[in-house]
Formats: sequence, C-alpha cells, structure tokens
Amino acid sequence: MNGGVYVFLGPPASGKGTQAELLADRIKLPHIALGDILREAVRGGTPLGLRAKKFMEQGKLVPDDLVISIASDRFRKDDCRAGFIVDGYPRTLKQEKAIEEDVRVAGLVMEAVIYINIDVSTAISRLSGRRSCKNCGAVYHIKFNPPKTAGACDKCGGDLYQRKDDTEEVIKTRFSVYALETVPLVEFFKKSGKMIEVSGEGTVDEVRGKIFSSLGLD
Ligand code: AMP
Repeated sequence: MNGGVYVFLGPPASGKGTQAELLADRIKLPHIALGDILREAVRGGTPLGLRAKKFMEQGKLVPDDLVISIASDRFRKDDCRAGFIVDGYPRTLKQEKAIEEDVRVAGLVMEAVIYINIDVSTAISRLSGRRSCKNCGAVYHIKFNPPKTAGACDKCGGDLYQRKDDTEEVIKTRFSVYALETVPLVEFFKKSGKMIEVSGEGTVDEVRGKIFSSLGLD
C-alpha cells in the first residue's frame, strides 16, 4: 500500500501545528513544520536562516525557491518513506505544484488536506497566549492548552518562549499574506476533493475529535 501524505492548512493560530502533532502521534508518521525548520535555521545562524530571517520577522513569506528546496530535501529523508504530515506548507500555489511532484516521485499519495477554518478575531486573541518550545517546537497556550509546568515543555522539558512574530504589527501582515497567497490554495484544494474542512473554534480535543473522525480514526 502507498504511504499517505497529510497537509494541514489554515490561518495563523488556527491550531494546525498542534493538530498535526496529535495526528502524527496517532498514525506514527513524522510531523514536518516548515516554520519550525526555518526558526531553527534562524537560531543556528545558518545561511538559510540568514536569508529567511528578515522575511519571518516581518511576517512575510520566505521566497518559494528557498522553501521548496528545504521542504523537498526534508521529504526525501528516510523517515518519510511511509508518508508524512506537513503543516505550514504548501502556502502558495507554486509550493503546491512542488509538493505534488515530491509526493509523486516518492511513490506516495496525497491522503488528505485538513483545512482548519477559524475566525480572524479568535485567531488574533489566541496568538498573544501562544508559547512554543525552543527545543522541539511543541506549541502551548497559557490559558487554553497550558503545559503541566509553567514555562517548560511537557514533551522534552525545553524552555517555552513567545515568538517574535506574534506581535500585533506582524500579526496583521501575516493575516494579509495569508489572504493573498494561501486562500487561493484553499479554493484549489476544495476542488481537488481531498480537502476536509474543520472548524478550529473549539478546544484542542474537540477539534482533534472532528479531524480524527473525518479521517476514519477513533
Ligand atoms: P509558521 O510557524 O507556520 O507560522 O511560519 C512562520 C513564518 O515562517 C511565516 O510567517 C513565514 O515567514 C515563514 N514560513 C513558514 N512556512 C512557510 C512557507 N511554506 N512558505 C514561505 N514562508 C514560510
């Protein structure tokens, strides 16, 4: 049987990273978050990080050529042979063409595109409470999804921090970039027949339940 690829799509703070991680735990496929790969490169001061930094800090998209080559390299790693779960990619129609080709070449199938739809006002109110693990990228919310110990990651004990691009000014740019670049992708996937649309308004567990049942998981 061909392995499956799952794509999570949605505006900033829709919960796509959190839900992608839960699905990864459940079906035992690697979870690939492009934003995490980029943030790690920025922290490490690598050539990629140096190029990506100014775009990320402004809430703009990192250029397609750069992101596509990072994603394609990652999808070719051994742990992706049976499939993978990706969030934050593709974000443009050009990236979509690239992932389609990567999936085809790897002999995998695009199993589902999970689109988490959320009201912009809910998303904005979530962003200020968001905290991420410096070490493994796990995402928490100080009120809605707090870690067991304040400031520390449940999974690896790493320090939690607030992202630099979760400030009001940058958030505005991120939403307009989303509307301009990524919403056309939602329309595209809608027509493909592989898209599952789920409201992201509930609790983490409610949203998880809706996604799992749409995928035929308990
Ligand atoms: P995220 O963690 O998914 O919210 O991504 C944080 C930032 O990383 C975005 O605002 C972009 O600057 C950059 N980024 C992440 N994924 C992509 C992508 N697929 N294409 C371009 N830029 C990206």
